[in-house]
Amino acid sequence: MSSRLPMPLRHNAATFCALLVGLLVTTVATAYVHRAIMERRQRRFEDAVTEGTARIQQRMDTHQAALLGVRALFASSHQVEPGEFHQYVHSLELAERNPGLQGIGYAPWTEGRAPLLYMEPLGAAAPLPLGTDLMSEPTRREALERARDTGEPTASGPMPPFLGDDDSGDAHFDLVVPFYVPPSPTTLEARRNTLRGFIYAPFHARELVQALRFPVPTAGSPAMDIHDGTAANAGPLIFQSSPRPPPPHTSRMERVVTVDISGRPWTLRFTAPSSYSGLGARSQQWVVLGSGLLLTLLLCLVTRAQARAQARAEAATAEQRRLAQAAESAVHLRDEFLGIAAHELRTPLTSLQLQLQLLQRQLGPGASLDTERVARGVASCARQTARLSQLMDSLLDLSRITRGRMELQLESLDLGEVVRELTRRFEAEAQGTDVRLTVRASPGVRGHWDRLRLEQVVTNLLSNALKYGHGAPVDVRVDSDGAHAWLEVEDRGIGIAPEDAPRIFERFERAVSSRHYGGLGLGLFITRQLVEALGGHISVASTPGRGSTFTVTLPLAGPPRGPDVHVPPDAPLS
Ligand code: ADP
Repeated sequence: MSSRLPMPLRHNAATFCALLVGLLVTTVATAYVHRAIMERRQRRFEDAVTEGTARIQQRMDTHQAALLGVRALFASSHQVEPGEFHQYVHSLELAERNPGLQGIGYAPWTEGRAPLLYMEPLGAAAPLPLGTDLMSEPTRREALERARDTGEPTASGPMPPFLGDDDSGDAHFDLVVPFYVPPSPTTLEARRNTLRGFIYAPFHARELVQALRFPVPTAGSPAMDIHDGTAANAGPLIFQSSPRPPPPHTSRMERVVTVDISGRPWTLRFTAPSSYSGLGARSQQWVVLGSGLLLTLLLCLVTRAQARAQARAEAATAEQRRLAQAAESAVHLRDEFLGIAAHELRTPLTSLQLQLQLLQRQLGPGASLDTERVARGVASCARQTARLSQLMDSLLDLSRITRGRMELQLESLDLGEVVRELTRRFEAEAQGTDVRLTVRASPGVRGHWDRLRLEQVVTNLLSNALKYGHGAPVDVRVDSDGAHAWLEVEDRGIGIAPEDAPRIFERFERAVSSRHYGGLGLGLFITRQLVEALGGHISVASTPGRGSTFTVTLPLAGPPRGPDVHVPPDAPLS
């Protein structure tokens, strides 16, 4: 899976792949089982066909053997008496051993006729009356003539029902065996001339086939029809295992076999419905399909769970990476700040040290005291100390803001007055550098603010305007719309590049080189925190090289939900 894909898509793709693989495997397995079942079904069907065909032929061989036995009786004796015939036939126990056989008779051949001389009934069907000419019935005559000419046991075509038999429509047929004056004739001519008579046996087709115990017409087992004649030219129906054949549109297997039954072709047609399979094998493919779908579902669920776990792990790793980067950049920022802070503290300290050494020399033994120089030195020391104290205050404010431990003392204040007073304090410094500092304040801009923090805000903005103002005039404006107060400090100094403007209100952020301008990059950060604590906001509009205007907007009513940031009232100003 490409790692360039979006994460949710990657995880959905994994689940989709699992679904696809699961369905594919299920389909292949089901198809395989289905094919195996079909092959097994086909094999079982073929076995049933082979076995059914063999049993019919074996049974007909048994019947033929019985009739050949009776023929042997007549061949071995010149005259067989009725009693002898009766005794012999019953001694063979044909009724038990040869199901379907309805009786055995003997008809001597006299001048083209074959009147029935003896008849021993064995089956349920009524026998032909003695004296009936077997040649009188055309179907039987055809069989008798064939038997006479071939010398073989010969089966007739389907016969009309026996006299007195039920009209169930069940077919009957005869099996006849010729016998001749010995020795056995070998030519057609000799057979016709030496024919002595026939052993005759009528059969009930249904009894005969059913006694084979094949096929039992139950659901799912093959059915069998037997027709007289060949497959191409099938004659009347001899046997039908299932009275109602399956409708033609149902899918089924079919096999047609033509067998020789005592010289007569019989066509056996085996059919099996599509449900034929044995042992309920068909249900196996549904089991495979069901299990496959179930496994696919499980696979999808597991894959999805895994994908989700992976997504969570990836998100956690990304978060860890982000935190590590944040920690790293915080450390970097801290080191950078420590460097700047050390430099910033070092500068006034060095200057203080030099001034003190100078003073020491002035006051040392033998030195002539120049009071004017001493006074200048002391003033310089005072300035450096003030600068150091200012730096320390900034650091302390930062620490308080970071720890959220500033408290505000709100009171009613006139912003114009506060600004004017602070401006006066700056005037000495501004005049020293020849900077014109003007204040235009609308009267009565009064609101609920913390005096010390408000002064800190104004002081920071004014000192920046003087520091970065290039000595050009600085304008301070105070105005109000009745709900908010505005304070604008405009200088005409170095200005700020547009890309730097958003970041100068952040901690330690500076847009100038520390070689040209000293500073910790904390003044505007602290200012912004205080303005926001008072419920207002600060912005800057600037053009590089042309100056900047810092605008502070404060609600006259004070912070909306009480002060967010707390500064102790005795905290020093920057
Ligand atoms: P510092 O002045 O100690 O560097 P500040 O937080 O007061 O820290 O200011 C942050 C940065 O914003 C300054 O370093 C400077 O680049 C820029 N800046 C502030 N005020 C002005 C101004 N009036 N004109 C031009 N740049 C200014």
